Amino acid sequence: MDNNRIINIAIDGPAGAGKSTIAKRVAKELGCIYVDTGAMYRAMALFLLRSGIAADDADAISRKCREADISISFENGEQVVTLNGENVNAYLRTEEVGNMASASSVNGDVREKLVELQQALGKKTSVVMDGRDIGTVVLPDAQVKIYLTAGVEVRAMRRYKEYLEKGEPADLAAIEEQIRERDWRDMHRDISPLRKADDAVEVDSSDLNIEETLEKILAIVEEKISGMN
Ligand code: C5P
Repeated sequence: MDNNRIINIAIDGPAGAGKSTIAKRVAKELGCIYVDTGAMYRAMALFLLRSGIAADDADAISRKCREADISISFENGEQVVTLNGENVNAYLRTEEVGNMASASSVNGDVREKLVELQQALGKKTSVVMDGRDIGTVVLPDAQVKIYLTAGVEVRAMRRYKEYLEKGEPADLAAIEEQIRERDWRDMHRDISPLRKADDAVEVDSSDLNIEETLEKILAIVEEKISGMN
């Protein structure tokens, strides 16, 4: 990759499609930074949960979100999310935080604050950024846009296995239900709903393993980037 040129790669899609695993690997291959925007929404959700704010209290969320100072940095290539001075990485990947993130991310004030941060990163450096609105709103001029998806049952099973591997209890039917709910909310919210950008390439990973998905996406990236020269 040409080191002088800033390359932005957007990977969007529903929960559990494998975006973060793939985005991390693509960033490593290209030697650029991986930005997990879901982790920023999760940090905001953690702040709201800790503050005792209800998921359906839009006014309280709008007011309280201003007090959250969220920033990201990179240590050994890994993203570290800081919430009001505290490294909160260890608290972000629970279903409770994920569900609150989905509920609070419908809020315009929350989105405005985090999108600004994400856009500044993409302007400053080459990034692979994953989320829901990266190709449509955050980085509309990204040189490569991928919409990574997979069937609900497949995504629920992947999440379920992740929990079991971590030795945590999990209920497959409950996970599937939560994923359906989250998909619906992410796709039907008024501001920046999850949708495939017109110029994004859709990849369905239902029948692909991680290596196969990665291979497919890297081929798309190579093709787009080489076409720019
Ligand atoms: O991707 P992840 O599951 O970590 O995202 C958590 C929640 O944050 C999503 O369900 C979505 O509602 C929200 N989100 C968003 N926009 C993004 C990234 C995540 O609204 N760019």
